[in-house]
Amino acid sequence: MSGKEYDGKRDFSTTPEPSGGKAPLDEPFFVIQEHAASSHHFDFRVSIGGALASWAVPKGPSTDPREKRLAVRTEDHPLAYADFEGVIPKGEYGGGRVIVWDRGPVGNVSEKNGEKLALKDALQAGHVSVRLHGEKLTGVYDLVQTGFRGNEDAWLLVKRDDDGADARRNPTSTQPESVLSGRTVDDLKPSLTKSP
Ligand code: MN
Repeated sequence: MSGKEYDGKRDFSTTPEPSGGKAPLDEPFFVIQEHAASSHHFDFRVSIGGALASWAVPKGPSTDPREKRLAVRTEDHPLAYADFEGVIPKGEYGGGRVIVWDRGPVGNVSEKNGEKLALKDALQAGHVSVRLHGEKLTGVYDLVQTGFRGNEDAWLLVKRDDDGADARRNPTSTQPESVLSGRTVDDLKPSLTKSP
C-alpha cells in the first residue's frame, strides 16, 4: 500500500523507488535512510497504520539528549520503502543517493496524561515516543510537533536520557555504512572514470 501523495510526486517509469510491496519486518519498525540529495538529510520513518510516517531530519538523529533536531514531516511512504537503497535520477523528486542507515523493531511508549496512546493517535496528537531497537540507535526517541512559525510540518526529534543516550557518540559521522549493504552514500556516486 502506498499513499496518493507519495505516488503523485513520483514517475515510476524513471525512479527505482517502490510503489508498494512487502514490509521488511513483521512487527512495528523504524528505518532511517541517509539521503544525499540537493540538501543532505536523514529520513526518519516509523511504521504506523500500514505506511511509513516520515520526517526529514537535516542534521540527522543525535544520541545526545540535549540536542533538539528539526524534523520536517513529509509524505507517508510505503512500508517496502524500508528496503530501498539506490540512486534516484536527477530531476526526479528527491533526486540523489539513498542508503538504509539504520533499521529495526520499535516499541511504542507514547502516552498522554499517563495513558498509553496507540501510535496513530500519538501521531495525531503531535507527540510520538518510540523505543528503537536498531543496530546503531537504541532507546527512546521523542518526536514532538512544534508548529514552529505556523508550519504544522515542523517537529523536533530528541533522544531521551536512557541507556541508549551518549553525548560523545556521533554515529551519523562515525558509522556511515548501510546496515543492509555496508555501502555509504558516497559509494553510490556514479564513477568518474569511464568503464572500458
Ligand atoms: Mn529524503
